[in-house]
Amino acid sequence: MTKPTAIIAGITGQDGAYLSKLLLDNGYQVVGLLRSYINNALRGLRYLKIDDKVILEECDLLDITQLINVIKKYQPTEIYNLSAQSSVSISFKQPIGTVQYNTLSVLNILEAIRLTDTKLKFYQASSSEMYGMVNDLPITENSIMHPLSPYAVSKAAAHWLCINYRESYDLFICCGILFNHESYLRSDNFFIKKIIREAIQIKQGKQEILRVGNIDISRDFGFAPRYVEAMFLMMQHSVPDDYLVCSGQSISLRAIINHVFDQLHIDKNKIVEDPTLFRPTDIEDIYGSNVKANEVLNWSYDHHFFEILDLLIEEEMQNS
Ligand code: NAP
Repeated sequence: MTKPTAIIAGITGQDGAYLSKLLLDNGYQVVGLLRSYINNALRGLRYLKIDDKVILEECDLLDITQLINVIKKYQPTEIYNLSAQSSVSISFKQPIGTVQYNTLSVLNILEAIRLTDTKLKFYQASSSEMYGMVNDLPITENSIMHPLSPYAVSKAAAHWLCINYRESYDLFICCGILFNHESYLRSDNFFIKKIIREAIQIKQGKQEILRVGNIDISRDFGFAPRYVEAMFLMMQHSVPDDYLVCSGQSISLRAIINHVFDQLHIDKNKIVEDPTLFRPTDIEDIYGSNVKANEVLNWSYDHHFFEILDLLIEEEMQNS
């Protein structure tokens, strides 16, 4: 029997690596789309020892002809779009590039599916950042969106394009609305990875202080290898729908830093709060409800984030 084929756009990112592993373990042929082989692109796949198991194709998601060709070549059953300029901070510095790429890439995939194979299932990586300014917590799938950054606006636009294509053309499209999820494979510029890496540098005497922005904000953090399971499950369900994927509780950034410093026995006077690093607008506190994913997909999550932090500190220490 031939294997089902899944295409993953954004294969070089954190989620691309973990989702590839999960799909390979479930008997899929995985085709990863990447913008170029230059740079450290395959770091995640190599780390999970699957770089020789994934077929790689250079493909610019802004070029619909390339997308159509790749769909015709591999005839996948599923496409997962994890590709995006994914940093909120960068989106304030590069708003035009962020909004252009994060929306047009998704519209191109949707059009490519509509024009080639309307049976093809599509997963879009939506984000909890879309909700932004919230009054009622926890967030649910029905909460009102009020995005607070160019990144969040771009994700909300892509999200609504997906819903519009599902409703207009009866396509199988799922949006996973993921809250922050971390792993060793997270890029260095994201908060958790940055805190752990820099704390280890301080411990090793290679750095003096940890400079941070506003740490009196709270977020709902989870573990990436567990979150990609929810992506896969929603694509296997009989009805396409959108799901929040989250831990269900928030933790302040200050509590996270304190935990990392305590675990590494570092003096907390080395934490320097710098107002110049504050964002123009920021969400104060946000956490979601994972009841729908639990009840419909049977996806459950019961890790406390400190447990995940301890794992990440250990993994970073082993590899630094
Ligand atoms: P990531 O590690 O930042 O990976 C992003 C991927 O998108 C990489 O493969 C990257 O390719 C590609 N990409 C970025 N900008 C691009 C551009 N301008 N042109 C072409 N490719 C570009 O993200 P992740 O953490 O795996 O997250 C996966 C998806 O989930 C993203 O869409 C993100 O916005 C969304 N999301 C993530 C979280 C989270 O906490 N991780 C939460 C909610 C939603 P290069 O390697 O070539 O740069």
